[in-house]
Amino acid sequence: MQINLRKKHILVTGASRGIGKAIARKLVECGARVALHYHQNANMARNTARELGPKAVLFQADLSEAINVSGFFYNVLKKFGHIDVIINNAGVAIRSDPSSEDMQWMNNWLKTMDINLNAVGLLCKKSIEHFEERNGGIIINIASRAAFRGDTKEYMAYAASKGGVVALTRSIARAYGKKNIKAFVVAPGFVRTDMTKDFVRKYGEDYVMNDIALNRLTEPEDIAPLIAFLASGLADHATGATFDFNAGSYLH
Ligand code: NAP
Repeated sequence: MQINLRKKHILVTGASRGIGKAIARKLVECGARVALHYHQNANMARNTARELGPKAVLFQADLSEAINVSGFFYNVLKKFGHIDVIINNAGVAIRSDPSSEDMQWMNNWLKTMDINLNAVGLLCKKSIEHFEERNGGIIINIASRAAFRGDTKEYMAYAASKGGVVALTRSIARAYGKKNIKAFVVAPGFVRTDMTKDFVRKYGEDYVMNDIALNRLTEPEDIAPLIAFLASGLADHATGATFDFNAGSYLH
């Protein structure tokens, strides 16, 4: 079945590369108009936009600063008129050694929270305000297997931030369902992107392969069809649910 997203306006954060780029590509393929957000990688983002054609429109914002978040959302609304679906995908995994000095560790913690949780919280708030005016909308938040399984000691902040995203999304689903606002979590396991390059370099691909049930690593393109399906509205009655997407490596 081809999913039809024609007439849908969809905002994807962190769409310059990795999972966000694959999501944006799939959404455009399904007919959506996509607000393609990026932070630092202007060249990559431009290439992605060029590849996707006129249905993809670029927006730049550093989401680590709360002060930028509302303005960014407003800019997308100004250009698009309305938004039907938001996909909070932008994120960072900052390695932080617990034996490092307290303030250094705390800075990494705070930066992780700013991008992975605080910006997502504010973007959800802005989306809810907009969706209330429009009598509905869909929020899809990209969390992580780490929210449930935990992570290594260097990535405790990352796991905690994603746990926050899960609780936030479930709260939205419970509080706003009657207003026709749906919220989903997608929780990937290991996906081959820039974020996981260092890990593969350090531990090798075999290490990751031994962790999963399938016979190849998950690619960003593997996740995109689920996002298109959730964005279509065909899964609305699963609101609040978390979709594990980790090649059978951890089922909570
Ligand atoms: P990635 O390849 O490292 O891409 C990260 C994206 O986030 C980029 O588009 C980047 O923009 C954007 N970003 C980074 N810092 C930002 C900031 N300060 N403000 C705004 N945007 C910022 O990551 P990925 O692997 O595709 O991950 C995408 C999402 O999936 C993340 O939320 C991640 O936690 C989650 N996830 C990934 C995996 C995995 O194995 N890869 C597993 C579980 C969950 P620029 O390129 O413009 O800097």
